Amino acid sequence: MIRVDLHLHTIFSGDSSLTPKFLVNQLHAHPFIKGVAITDHNTLEGYFQTRKLASAYEDLLILPGLEISTREGDLIILGVDEKPRVPIELSSAIEFAKANKGLVVIPHPYRSLGIGKTAMTTKADAIEVLNPTATPNENMLARNLAKAISLPGIAGTDAHDPKEMWTVYTEVEAQLTIHSILDNIRKGRVKAVAASPQG
Ligand SMILES: [Zn+2]
Repeated sequence: MIRVDLHLHTIFSGDSSLTPKFLVNQLHAHPFIKGVAITDHNTLEGYFQTRKLASAYEDLLILPGLEISTREGDLIILGVDEKPRVPIELSSAIEFAKANKGLVVIPHPYRSLGIGKTAMTTKADAIEVLNPTATPNENMLARNLAKAISLPGIAGTDAHDPKEMWTVYTEVEAQLTIHSILDNIRKGRVKAVAASPQG
C-alpha cells in the first residue's frame, strides 16, 4: 500500500508558490507520502522539471497530470504527458484523456470551478471526494456523488503553497509505479485520508 497526493500545483500553474525543488525536498523528507501527481493548470512543464529532480531518489514517484480548464469547469487527467489545447469543452477533454489512456478525475465537483452533477454523465474514472480547499459539506456531496455513480473516491490537497501540503492523501493498494497506481485507482483499491494534524 502506498500513499500519494493526487492534486498539487507548482509555480508553473501561475498561482502557486511551490517550486519543483522545494516540492521534491519536502516529498523526500515526508515520513510516508512517497508520490505526488503534478496537476498544474493546462501545462506539463512543472511535471517535467519535478520528475527530473526526483529521479535522484529511488523511493519517490512523480505522476504526470493536468488540471484542465474546460468550458464547464475543472477536469484532472492523470497519466498523460501531452496536453490538449484550451479552451476546450469538457467532453473533448475527456475524449483526449481516453485517447491517451489517461485517468479522468473530477476535482472538487461542488466547489467553485467544479462540474457538479455533470460528472454523472461523463466517463470519469474517479471523483475527488476530499479536497481541503472545498468545504466539509462540498466534500460530503462529492462523496455522495461518487457513491451514487459507483466511482472510486480519491483525495488531493490542491496545494498552492507550503502550508497546504500533505494535509490529505490517497492510499492506493499498489506498487510505486505510475501504471500500478492508475490501474488500482481504476479498480477502486483506494481510500481518501485526512492526515492527522502534526505536533
Ligand atoms: Zn487544483
